[in-house]
Amino acid sequence: MTEDSESVTEWLIASRPAPAKACKSSQAAFPLHPRDAELEIIEIEPKPAFLHNILPRLQWSALVTLCAGLRVAELPGEAPEVGVLDEEEDGKMKAELHRLLLETTVKEGALICGNCGHEYRIKEGIANFLLPSHLV
Ligand SMILES: [Zn+2]
Repeated sequence: MTEDSESVTEWLIASRPAPAKACKSSQAAFPLHPRDAELEIIEIEPKPAFLHNILPRLQWSALVTLCAGLRVAELPGEAPEVGVLDEEEDGKMKAELHRLLLETTVKEGALICGNCGHEYRIKEGIANFLLPSHLV
């Protein structure tokens, strides 16, 4: 996770809906849907404590939506219990979550609002949430 780019995790923890006023109260505006995402994956050492802490705070359905858009990991439809991660024999889910939450940054692409269809560009890892004037 570099300082100047926003990781998938940061989007999730922020639970940030689309910024347009008309969309703030719309269920369809969260999460934003990644499109044409160009990913950068930087391998880092496993951090089991991080996964334990973050798992209960994630909106799992949002995570699944992001995963589908980024095509970076395969997750089950239901959130696993924290204990399940430790009991897993192959450690597959733990590995998928680690990659998605800690190693993946979106370098280029866009985030699409599911309510109004507005496209927020991502450039060099930074999502541009500035709105055109007609949406403010
Ligand atoms: Zn919108």
